[in-house]
Amino acid sequence: MSRYDPECIFCKIAAGHIPAKLVYKNEHVVAFHDLNPVAPTHVLIIPQEHIPSLSQLSEADTVIAGQILLAARVVAEKTGVLDSGYRVVFNNGPDSLQSVGHIHAHVIGGKSMGWPPFPGREILHGQD
Ligand code: 5GP
Ligand code: ZN
Repeated sequence: MSRYDPECIFCKIAAGHIPAKLVYKNEHVVAFHDLNPVAPTHVLIIPQEHIPSLSQLSEADTVIAGQILLAARVVAEKTGVLDSGYRVVFNNGPDSLQSVGHIHAHVIGGKSMGWPPFPGREILHGQD
């Protein structure tokens, strides 16, 4: 079954209808550079099919879920952060500041990070 939301920007990227700087692609997932990177490596991994968020993954999506995680390792290798380290983040819902309703993993690396990721600066993407 194929799920495509014509209103969804990430569905359009997956379908090649709007451009993105691809890092990796297979039959299940597409990985591309984030438009507003927060680190030297900032790549998004999305399933080809429209799934709104982590909360809406189902048993039927087990292969897709695994493929996203496997793609994270491939992206880390391709962007040169496999050994230096990287973070894989799924923002999910309002408190996390998820802004695009098509599930995506952020692969972030290439600089030293802090932990925990709060107290948060409640910023909107693209603003400082
Ligand atoms: P979220 O806040 O939903 O976890 O992350 C969405 C991410 O998608 C943001 O980091 C934002 O910069 C990125 N983004 C939004 N629109 C586009 C786009 O059209 N192209 C690319 N490459 N990234 C996008
Ligand atoms: Zn979508």
